[in-house]
Amino acid sequence: MATDRFGRNIHYLRISLTDKCNLRCVYCMPEDIVFRPSTELMQDDEVITLFRLFVDLGFSKFRLTGGEPTIRQNIVGLVRQMCAMPGVNEVSMTTNGVLLGEMAGPLAQAGLKRCNISLDTLDPERFRRITRWGHLQAVWDGIEAAERAGLLPIKLNAVVVRGFNDQQDVIDMAALTLEHHWQMRYIEMMPLGDVAGFQQAQVVTEAELRATIESEFGPLELLNDGRLDGEARLYRIRGARGKLGFISSVTAPFCAACNRARLTADGKLRLCLLREKEVDLLTPLRQGATIEDLKEIIRAGIWTKPWGHGLAQNVVPMNRVMSEIGG
Ligand code: SAM
Ligand code: SF4
Repeated sequence: MATDRFGRNIHYLRISLTDKCNLRCVYCMPEDIVFRPSTELMQDDEVITLFRLFVDLGFSKFRLTGGEPTIRQNIVGLVRQMCAMPGVNEVSMTTNGVLLGEMAGPLAQAGLKRCNISLDTLDPERFRRITRWGHLQAVWDGIEAAERAGLLPIKLNAVVVRGFNDQQDVIDMAALTLEHHWQMRYIEMMPLGDVAGFQQAQVVTEAELRATIESEFGPLELLNDGRLDGEARLYRIRGARGKLGFISSVTAPFCAACNRARLTADGKLRLCLLREKEVDLLTPLRQGATIEDLKEIIRAGIWTKPWGHGLAQNVVPMNRVMSEIGG
C-alpha cells in the first residue's frame, strides 16, 4: 500500500497515454502547442510494466486520459491487458468523445468500466470556438455510443470559460439531466503553464454557476449530504432524472481527501495536478532498474506528495499545460 506522509492512502492512478490531441480546447492548451516526440513517451510495454508496478503497490482504480487517449494506437489492446490484471478494480477513461462513436463498443468489450466525456456546450458554433475546430455532432454520437455500450453512468464534464460558455450553455447542459440519467459536471477552470493568464482571467466559480442554474430551474437539491462523489459535489434539479456535479478545485479544494497520483505520457509520476513536483520513472525503467528499485522510487515519491495546491497563494504550476498531465 502506498501512503503519503500525511497518512493519505494513495490508490488511484490517472495515466496520460499521450500528450497529443485531435482538438485544441482554449482552456487546455495553446493553439500552437508543440507535442513531444513519440520516442520520449511511454511505449506499450512500458505502460504495462509501470501499470503492473502500481497494481502491486495496492493501486486498484485507474483512469486513462491524455491528451486524447482514444487516438493512441492499440488503445483497445492496452485496456484489455490492464483490465485482465488481478487486483484491478476499475479502469475508466476521460475522453473528448470524438472517436467514441466507433470505439465505445470495443473499449467496453475490452473491460473499460465507464468514461467521462467532455462537453462544454450544446451549440455547434460555440463548440467549434472552444475546441478551435471540433464538430459537436461527433461528440454527441460518442455519448450515445457510450450509453449503448454500457459505459455507465455517463458523466459529462464541462469546463466553463467566461465569454465562451458561461450563460445559456450552462443552463442548456443542466437541462440534459431532466430527461437523461447522466451526471452533468461543471469544472472550475484551473491555471497551468503558458495558458495560466487566460485561465485565471476567465474562470467561473461554482457559486456563479449554481446561481445561473438556479435562476432557471429554482433551488437545487443537495445530494449525499454534501459529501463528495469523487471530486464532485452533487445536486439535482427538482424532479430531474440525472444529477449535477460541481468540481471546484479553485474555490473549494478537496486536497485533504486526495487519494490520487498521476503518470504523465512521458513517464513521470506527478504527485499533485497543480504542483510542479514529479518523479521520473521512465528513465530508470529504460536504464534497467529492477522492479524492486522502481517500486521503491514510487513509494518514496508518494511519501513526498504535497499536501495540496497553492492557488490561494497564487502559486501556479508552470512546467506543463493540462493536456500533458491529463486532468
Ligand atoms: N482529451 C480528454 C478530454 O478532453 O476529456 C482527456 C484529457 S483532458 C486534459 C481531461 C479533463 O481535463 C477534461 O475533462 C477537460 O475538460 C479538463 N480540463 C482541461 N483543461 C482544464 C483546465 N484548465 N481546468 C480544468 N479542467 C480542465
Ligand atoms: Fe484535447 Fe481534452 Fe485538452 Fe480538449 S481538454 S484540448 S480534448 S486534451
